[in-house]
Amino acid sequence: MEEIRNFIDGVWQTSSAEEHLDVTDPATGETLGRVPLSTPGEVDQAAQAAAKAFSEWRRTPAVERVQYLFKLKVLLDENLEQLSRTITLENGKTLGESRGEMRRAIENVEVACGIPILIQGYNSEDIARGIDEIMIRQPVGVAAAICPFNFPGMIPFWFMPYALACGNTYIVKPSEKVPLTMVRIFELLEQVGFPKGVVNMVNGSKDAVDAILEHPTIRAISFVGSTPVAKHVYAQAAANGKRAQVQGGAKNPIIVLSDADMDMSTRIVADSAFGNAGQRCLAASLAITVGEASEFTEAIAEAAATRVVGSGLDEAVEMGPVITPESKARIQSLIQEGESEGAKLLVDGRDATVDGHENGNFLRPTVLDGVPKDGEIFKTEIFGPVLGLMHVDTIEEAIELVNTGSYGNMASLFTSSGAAARKFRYEAEVGNIGINIGVAAPMAFFPFSGWGDSFFGTLHGQGRDAVDFFTQEKVIVERWPKEWTRKF
Ligand code: NAD
Repeated sequence: MEEIRNFIDGVWQTSSAEEHLDVTDPATGETLGRVPLSTPGEVDQAAQAAAKAFSEWRRTPAVERVQYLFKLKVLLDENLEQLSRTITLENGKTLGESRGEMRRAIENVEVACGIPILIQGYNSEDIARGIDEIMIRQPVGVAAAICPFNFPGMIPFWFMPYALACGNTYIVKPSEKVPLTMVRIFELLEQVGFPKGVVNMVNGSKDAVDAILEHPTIRAISFVGSTPVAKHVYAQAAANGKRAQVQGGAKNPIIVLSDADMDMSTRIVADSAFGNAGQRCLAASLAITVGEASEFTEAIAEAAATRVVGSGLDEAVEMGPVITPESKARIQSLIQEGESEGAKLLVDGRDATVDGHENGNFLRPTVLDGVPKDGEIFKTEIFGPVLGLMHVDTIEEAIELVNTGSYGNMASLFTSSGAAARKFRYEAEVGNIGINIGVAAPMAFFPFSGWGDSFFGTLHGQGRDAVDFFTQEKVIVERWPKEWTRKF
């Protein structure tokens, strides 16, 4: 069993925390490690180390800073298999899903390597006679990421590579449910040889988060997690004068028009709803059919009933367990609630058992047909392998349902009509749109968007948004009268 340590000022430190939590394998219930709930004092140490390192790191030319990221990319590639295995062990997702997650993480390192050009400002000569104006970008200072359990390897990379490339120093607070992946990644960051204090990791939960939010030295906060915590983080960051990009929960609808390719649509919707055991912020959780519904309904029920559930380490498995026994119980009770509200249980995945994994948190995919729009299941994020079906007559009604939800993370449309696709992408009030795509995850060179209760702030993670978030603009107006040159 691994005793998880913090990484502060270039040194692995055993936490002085009094409280610890077990880290468990969701497929077996076995304890993998013990994570400290670090104290505000330890957050302070990390913030001070990062502040001390900032002065030299920001003076390191961008072309030199990215050399560290090039090395990191190579190490991440070389260790992809080991990292993916660690993600599967502590999170439960399949090895294929873990590999995909790490590839998306690495993509962000690659994009951040372009910082010498991405960080450029702009200028205008002669804004008045002999006066020039210049905008340059400078790093913000010490920044921190507060991360969720569902992508232990990828999510810190939506932020950290850009922050470092822009000349900031960094603190990562991993999810206390899945801290092992970041330990392995910080071992690689140590091998890369970043100067002491440039990258730091503090483990913990609410107390560590609140200490980060209150710390006067930490200037920028990136958060990903559930909406109630997101609101707390956004409010506290603002109250303490910090910039913040805060991603919350989701309830993602997809619309299936009757002109869609049903085979392809069913396969893609099933992967979206049940992949990662439904614990993806871009998972489809409501499928709205327009017009003829029976073909899609039958096909998705079949796809749900036949999905192979088991340990994520088994390459033949298509869906692993959910994260904790509490999560499993919550999902089971929401399925029950859906049934009480009048939805029909087309496929009931509540009683899943996997041979040899009797202590795992397994569910099977579940399909609830006829979810009422005034009930809880229509609006509540289930964050499990449960797909609700709704049926309407027109695309207008379907888009209205999409826009009724309070979240705005993702919505997708399945169709072969370009006109329908344009109408949908124009009118849907969400940040990430899929057209015949089930998980519309933006590539690293696009912002990972989100609207409504799925995002608080203005600048998103990844790409140019991340560069804007991790720099502050300085505008210089300067005059050099020509008489002064005559002196030389
Ligand atoms: P969570 O909100 O429970 O935890 C997220 C982080 O906040 C963790 O680091 C945790 O330690 C900390 N935290 C938890 N409770 C806190 C409190 N009361 N005060 C301060 N900090 C606290 O989220 P989770 O269960 O780890 O992750 C799942 C959620 O994340 C889902 O709602 C999912 O939709 C969301 N998510 C969103 C996106 C997105 O891009 N919008 C991406 C991934 C996950």
